[in-house]
Amino acid sequence: MSKNEPKIQIIPLGGLGEIGKNMTVIQYEKEILVIDAGLMFPEEDMPGIDMVIPDITYLKENREYVKAILLTHGHEDHIGALPYVLQELNVPLFGTKLTLGLVEGKLKENKIKKNISMNVVNPLQTVKIGNFTVDFFRVNHSIPDSLGIAIHTPVGTICHTGDFKFDQTPVDGKIADLHKLAELGSKGVLVLLSDSTNAERTGYTMSEKVVGATIEEIFGMAKGRIIVATFASNIHRIQQVVDAAFKYDRKVAIVGRSMVNTVSIAESLGYINLPENMILELDEISHLPENKIVIITTGSQGEPMSALTRMAMSEHKKLEILPGDTVLIAATPIPGNEKLVARTIDHLFKQGADVIYEKISGVHVSGHASQEELKLMINLVRPKYFIPVHGEFRHLIHHANLAKEVGIPEENIFIAENGRIIEFTKDGARFSGKVTAGKVLVDGLGVGDVGNIVLRDRKQLAQDGIMIVVVTIDKESTEVVAGPDIISRGFVYVRESEQLIEQAKDIVKQELKKCQEENITEWSSIKSEVREALGKFLFEQTRRRPMILPIIMEV
Ligand SMILES: [Zn+2]
Ligand SMILES: [Zn+2]
Repeated sequence: MSKNEPKIQIIPLGGLGEIGKNMTVIQYEKEILVIDAGLMFPEEDMPGIDMVIPDITYLKENREYVKAILLTHGHEDHIGALPYVLQELNVPLFGTKLTLGLVEGKLKENKIKKNISMNVVNPLQTVKIGNFTVDFFRVNHSIPDSLGIAIHTPVGTICHTGDFKFDQTPVDGKIADLHKLAELGSKGVLVLLSDSTNAERTGYTMSEKVVGATIEEIFGMAKGRIIVATFASNIHRIQQVVDAAFKYDRKVAIVGRSMVNTVSIAESLGYINLPENMILELDEISHLPENKIVIITTGSQGEPMSALTRMAMSEHKKLEILPGDTVLIAATPIPGNEKLVARTIDHLFKQGADVIYEKISGVHVSGHASQEELKLMINLVRPKYFIPVHGEFRHLIHHANLAKEVGIPEENIFIAENGRIIEFTKDGARFSGKVTAGKVLVDGLGVGDVGNIVLRDRKQLAQDGIMIVVVTIDKESTEVVAGPDIISRGFVYVRESEQLIEQAKDIVKQELKKCQEENITEWSSIKSEVREALGKFLFEQTRRRPMILPIIMEV
């Protein structure tokens, strides 16, 4: 292989081995295109963290090479990191009208005033960016205007599906550009990167229209108010709820900040069709008879602060659940949210509502392709190489197996991880080194300042609380002048644990005396002796390990 042979590198910076924070780097010589810049919601072992974004050290180090960020669609796991990424890099964005509309809303919310070049693209449009020629094609997904991307490079064509499914009867009538995929395939595709989310699911994902039929059926039977919770970004599902309301002569109120924002962006850009006088304010709609009312709201994930959860807990300022209400949770819990959703459902039942949710009826279909569609995608595109993306490790493995089934040789399939470089030349493809990649935690205004040590402390505080020991020592004589005093939070209820606290004080006294006798004068050593002795005692007494914070004052 000669040194000057053109090579293309694909470097996933997020989205592999995880669901969320999708970001892929495509590099040819000194030009980089980035596909998506998403966030991930914090996991259970990240107390206090608001969100997780990809580590973009590699992009910052190569900032002059980065030519554009191409956006597949407007979900948070694809655009959510943009407010942070754009503060570091001023790069043009390419995406559909809706995607960029949602990005604008997001930048405004984060008070980012920078002038970002926003380039609206349409399906089947081609744009030239440096040495790259980029084709966009339509796919179906749970948000309108989702794109797949084909990037033509001097080494070959790279095809990225984005999040997709094939819906033969989509709500907006716009089916995926199957013919474009077939055309790409017949011209030759070097490598396909494809959505692995549902690689474990057999068969085909059902059409969104199926949900519409179920919603209509439920509307036909409901006697009282109907409350529908779904994802704010699922515009087509909201459209189907509005259509059912129209059919049954009900009015609609939209509740919940993200729902109100998204619907207003979608309406102003022409993605949702709201019949005149259909949408009312909550105050107006409450004057109507119950069987004329529909409320569309957030909270399908049981999020504690969402409108639906607050209604379920009787904590909503303006809305309470009434016996006879029908509550429709038209979404499936994202892994990790199952308990929250189940709790919300229980509370809604307790308030007297009839609750209809995914487990017991077809009020949700996935936005991601199942196995047969994944195979169809590979058969249409006929890539030489295959990289499963957008999934936990097991999803990637299942997807790789499907690729093998339809004839992709095992050695041409790359199961990668974030930061791994996959390099392509005319001769072949191989893993080739690594770049920095990982999780950057966002907490309040801090980006990346909370790391493992802070998280470990938070977990310890959350699990067993804290004990603070304050003691005043005479500088000259090293005698204890005051204390030890003990303050504790989240460990034991002090008023009922006087004996334990007194014993703890004795332990501290003994330890200080020992230090004095052994001539240990270094404060950090005294502190660690106290911490150790007290920790051992408290664990023996309580089987708990609170954080112990000795404070020594000198007089
Ligand atoms: Zn998506
Ligand atoms: Zn996604």
